[in-house]
Amino acid sequence: MKTKVLIIEDNEQSQYLATFVLERNGYEVISAGDGRTGIDLAEQSNPALVLLDIQLPIMDGYAVVSAMKKKPMLAQIPIVAVTSCAMSGDRERMLNAGCSGYIEKPINPETFIQEVERHLPRPGASPGENNE
Ligand code: MN
Repeated sequence: MKTKVLIIEDNEQSQYLATFVLERNGYEVISAGDGRTGIDLAEQSNPALVLLDIQLPIMDGYAVVSAMKKKPMLAQIPIVAVTSCAMSGDRERMLNAGCSGYIEKPINPETFIQEVERHLPRPGASPGENNE
Protein backbone atom coordinates (compact mmCIF):
# COMPACT_ATOMS: atom_id res chain seq x y z
CA MET A 1 0.00 0.00 0.00
CA LYS A 2 1.32 3.42 -0.91
CA THR A 3 2.15 5.93 1.78
CA LYS A 4 -0.30 8.81 1.65
CA VAL A 5 0.82 12.42 1.86
CA LEU A 6 -1.57 15.35 2.16
CA ILE A 7 -0.49 18.65 0.61
CA ILE A 8 -2.28 21.78 1.77
CA GLU A 9 -1.17 24.48 -0.66
CA ASP A 10 -3.06 27.17 -2.57
CA ASN A 11 -0.41 27.82 -5.20
CA GLU A 12 -1.09 25.51 -8.12
CA GLN A 13 2.48 25.41 -9.35
CA SER A 14 3.89 24.55 -5.94
CA GLN A 15 1.23 21.92 -5.46
CA TYR A 16 1.87 20.46 -8.89
CA LEU A 17 5.63 20.20 -8.39
CA ALA A 18 5.40 18.62 -4.94
CA THR A 19 2.75 16.17 -6.18
CA PHE A 20 4.84 15.26 -9.21
CA VAL A 21 7.98 14.52 -7.18
CA LEU A 22 6.08 12.55 -4.52
CA GLU A 23 4.16 10.46 -7.03
CA ARG A 24 7.33 9.66 -8.95
CA ASN A 25 8.76 8.35 -5.73
CA GLY A 26 5.82 6.05 -5.10
CA TYR A 27 3.68 8.14 -2.77
CA GLU A 28 -0.04 8.65 -2.99
CA VAL A 29 -0.86 12.36 -2.87
CA ILE A 30 -4.07 14.06 -1.84
CA SER A 31 -4.28 17.80 -1.87
CA ALA A 32 -6.31 20.75 -0.67
CA GLY A 33 -6.14 24.39 -1.68
CA ASP A 34 -7.26 25.85 1.65
CA GLY A 35 -6.88 25.07 5.32
CA ARG A 36 -10.45 24.06 6.07
CA THR A 37 -10.59 21.54 3.22
CA GLY A 38 -7.17 20.28 4.27
CA ILE A 39 -8.34 19.47 7.79
CA ASP A 40 -11.46 17.75 6.45
CA LEU A 41 -9.33 15.67 4.09
CA ALA A 42 -6.94 14.72 6.89
CA GLU A 43 -9.88 13.45 8.93
CA GLN A 44 -11.26 11.47 6.03
CA SER A 45 -8.08 9.90 4.75
CA ASN A 46 -5.60 9.70 7.63
CA PRO A 47 -2.41 10.65 5.74
CA ALA A 48 1.04 9.56 6.99
CA LEU A 49 2.28 13.15 6.71
CA VAL A 50 0.99 16.63 5.93
CA LEU A 51 2.89 19.26 3.95
CA LEU A 52 1.48 22.62 4.93
CA ASP A 53 1.78 25.99 3.26
CA ILE A 54 1.48 28.99 5.56
CA GLN A 55 -0.33 31.62 3.53
CA LEU A 56 -3.64 29.98 2.71
CA PRO A 57 -7.20 31.16 2.18
CA ILE A 58 -9.85 30.67 4.91
CA MET A 59 -7.40 29.41 7.56
CA ASP A 60 -3.67 30.08 7.45
CA GLY A 61 -1.11 27.37 8.11
CA TYR A 62 -0.69 28.42 11.71
CA ALA A 63 -4.43 28.01 12.37
CA VAL A 64 -4.39 24.65 10.56
CA VAL A 65 -1.55 23.17 12.60
CA SER A 66 -3.07 24.49 15.84
CA ALA A 67 -6.45 22.95 14.99
CA MET A 68 -4.97 19.61 13.94
CA LYS A 69 -2.91 19.29 17.12
CA LYS A 70 -6.10 19.71 19.18
CA LYS A 71 -7.84 16.82 17.46
CA PRO A 72 -6.90 13.45 18.97
CA MET A 73 -7.41 11.73 15.61
CA LEU A 74 -4.98 14.06 13.86
CA ALA A 75 -2.55 15.06 16.60
CA GLN A 76 -0.03 12.29 15.82
CA ILE A 77 0.29 13.04 12.11
CA PRO A 78 3.59 14.81 11.41
CA ILE A 79 3.10 18.22 9.80
CA VAL A 80 5.90 19.82 7.82
CA ALA A 81 5.61 23.53 7.08
CA VAL A 82 6.59 24.59 3.59
CA THR A 83 7.88 28.14 3.93
CA SER A 84 9.50 30.65 1.65
CA CYS A 85 13.05 31.51 2.59
CA ALA A 86 12.20 35.14 3.26
CA MET A 87 9.71 34.35 5.99
CA SER A 88 12.02 32.97 8.67
CA GLY A 89 9.82 34.27 11.49
CA ASP A 90 7.10 31.90 10.33
CA ARG A 91 9.29 28.88 10.98
CA GLU A 92 9.61 29.47 14.72
CA ARG A 93 5.91 30.09 14.93
CA MET A 94 5.05 26.91 13.02
CA LEU A 95 7.49 24.78 15.05
CA ASN A 96 6.05 26.20 18.27
CA ALA A 97 2.55 25.36 17.05
CA GLY A 98 3.55 21.72 16.61
CA CYS A 99 5.10 21.29 13.18
CA SER A 100 7.77 18.59 12.97
CA GLY A 101 9.94 20.73 10.74
CA TYR A 102 9.95 22.86 7.65
CA ILE A 103 11.00 22.67 4.04
CA GLU A 104 12.02 25.73 2.09
CA LYS A 105 9.95 26.91 -0.82
CA PRO A 106 10.49 26.85 -3.75
CA ILE A 107 11.10 23.17 -3.18
CA ASN A 108 14.23 21.61 -4.58
CA PRO A 109 13.19 18.50 -6.52
CA GLU A 110 16.65 16.98 -5.91
CA THR A 111 16.36 16.98 -2.13
CA PHE A 112 12.62 17.20 -1.51
CA ILE A 113 12.01 13.47 -0.97
CA GLN A 114 14.84 13.10 1.54
CA GLU A 115 13.49 16.11 3.41
CA VAL A 116 9.97 14.67 3.46
CA GLU A 117 11.18 11.22 4.53
CA ARG A 118 13.03 12.64 7.53
CA HIS A 119 9.62 13.39 8.98
CA LEU A 120 7.75 10.24 8.02
CA PRO A 121 7.10 7.69 10.73
CA ARG A 122 9.10 4.54 10.14
CA PRO A 123 7.06 1.59 8.87
CA GLY A 124 5.72 -0.44 11.75
CA ALA A 125 6.34 2.24 14.37
CA SER A 126 3.39 3.15 16.55
CA PRO A 127 2.16 6.70 16.53
CA GLY A 128 4.31 8.76 18.84
CA GLU A 129 7.21 6.30 18.65
CA ASN A 130 8.71 7.67 15.50
CA ASN A 131 11.47 9.61 17.19
CA GLU A 132 14.95 8.28 17.88
MN1 MN B 1 0.09 30.00 -0.19
